[in-house]
Amino acid sequence: MKLFNTLTRQKDEFVPITPGEVKMYSCGPTVYNFFHVGNARPFIVFDLLRRYFEYRGYKVEFVQNFTDIDDKVIAKANEEGVTYDVIADRYIKEYYVDAEGLGIRRATLHPRATETMDAIIGIIQKLIDKGHAYAAPNGDVYFRTKSDPEYGKLCHQPLEDLQAGARISVGEQKEDPMDFAVWKAAKPGEPSWDAPWGKGRPGWHIECSAMVNKYLGQTIDIHGGGLDLTFPHHENEIAQSECANGCTFANYWVHNGFLTIDNEKMSKSKGNFFMVREAAQAFGYETIRMFMLSAHYRTPLNYSEESLRMNKASLERLYEARNNMEFRISKAPDGGMSPEEAEKLAALGAYKQKFIDAMDDDLNTADALSAVFELTREVNGYMAAHQDATAAFLTAAHALFMELTGVLGIAQRREEAADPDAEKIEALIAQRAAAKKNKDFAEADRIRDELAGMGVTIKDTRQGTQWSRA
Ligand code: AMP
Ligand code: ZN
Repeated sequence: MKLFNTLTRQKDEFVPITPGEVKMYSCGPTVYNFFHVGNARPFIVFDLLRRYFEYRGYKVEFVQNFTDIDDKVIAKANEEGVTYDVIADRYIKEYYVDAEGLGIRRATLHPRATETMDAIIGIIQKLIDKGHAYAAPNGDVYFRTKSDPEYGKLCHQPLEDLQAGARISVGEQKEDPMDFAVWKAAKPGEPSWDAPWGKGRPGWHIECSAMVNKYLGQTIDIHGGGLDLTFPHHENEIAQSECANGCTFANYWVHNGFLTIDNEKMSKSKGNFFMVREAAQAFGYETIRMFMLSAHYRTPLNYSEESLRMNKASLERLYEARNNMEFRISKAPDGGMSPEEAEKLAALGAYKQKFIDAMDDDLNTADALSAVFELTREVNGYMAAHQDATAAFLTAAHALFMELTGVLGIAQRREEAADPDAEKIEALIAQRAAAKKNKDFAEADRIRDELAGMGVTIKDTRQGTQWSRA
């Protein structure tokens, strides 16, 4: 499998540290609000990467953090007159609601910054001991950027350019403008933790270094996040971890491109965002996931109602194909696969190969989705032309469909089965069939209208009547 690695700026063949295992980390949300559709992109992308590795037989350890203490969390807590943990707890719960809706599986571990204080303090102490960090007179602790000769290797910017962009803000006591805080001295009215160099709270970059170290080890396979995190966040994570441990931090750096709106990055600060929660109300959670998969993860992806509607329609086609297969399986003649069917099934294997080739090529979900749609078209065509297709063949075709869509995390729900009116609908369909048998066509039409009034569309097929929600 090839992955585009920001460190080398090329697609590199993925070689794990331990054969058959993947250790990956991705930067999670700051929990002071619901997350927006832009934030959802990395969560979906790294969930997908994890699922794909698992599909290919790897054992994956995946850690994604919650930044539960920072300026924004504190500001929100002050605004509401509650403590920071009330805000964090609330939005962590809400994160899980939206994540589940989007088909994002729970990571192996979701550590919180405030629960990782021991490791954070440990790594800062190590950096101080080695001369890579220093405590300023005001109690802040800064990373001494010039002590790291490799600083800037991820963002590929010459040191002079980085220097030109660096500033010392009011209240900071840095030796050098490029230095950054790993520990912020306690301020009145703010939550703080005890540390050998004085009370305070961790800077943002240090929590990820500490968590990786604590939960995954000194060197991991993959570190991920949105493109905007490359500098300074990830550059600083590398500096901290590599200076503390003296070894490579992450072998592959994977960054997703921006989710844009009117071709501008969606962000809370610009105010041009839609919360996942509101977008899901309009289009459904799964449509949002489908929309994310429709483009390669590194390209910019523009959010528009039109695009969401198109993806909703695509998703519906997948559900329709799945429902057709399941309906035909339930009505199909028993017995072994015919030689023609066996041959057809072998031919369908080409779509699986196409899917794998696409995913192996830096997670090309757009091409992987085309393979799924081609498979769907092929199976639909075959079913229409072979009304006597056996359950054995249909079940195998269905299994392949579920396998590939399962890797992508779409078309897995049982919407029809979950329909609260399913029993009543089935009963009405049976009554209608009986009426037709008795040539009572007026009654049959009346039942069709009653079903239509419930929002149920029916389709008569050679195998019986199939229904769906309009
Ligand atoms: P935050 O909660 O702002 O730290 O962001 C959480 C994750 O969302 C990070 O990996 C960001 O890089 C990512 N992110 C934020 N905005 C966007 C966007 N418009 N497009 C893609 N990723 C984004
Ligand atoms: Zn991070």
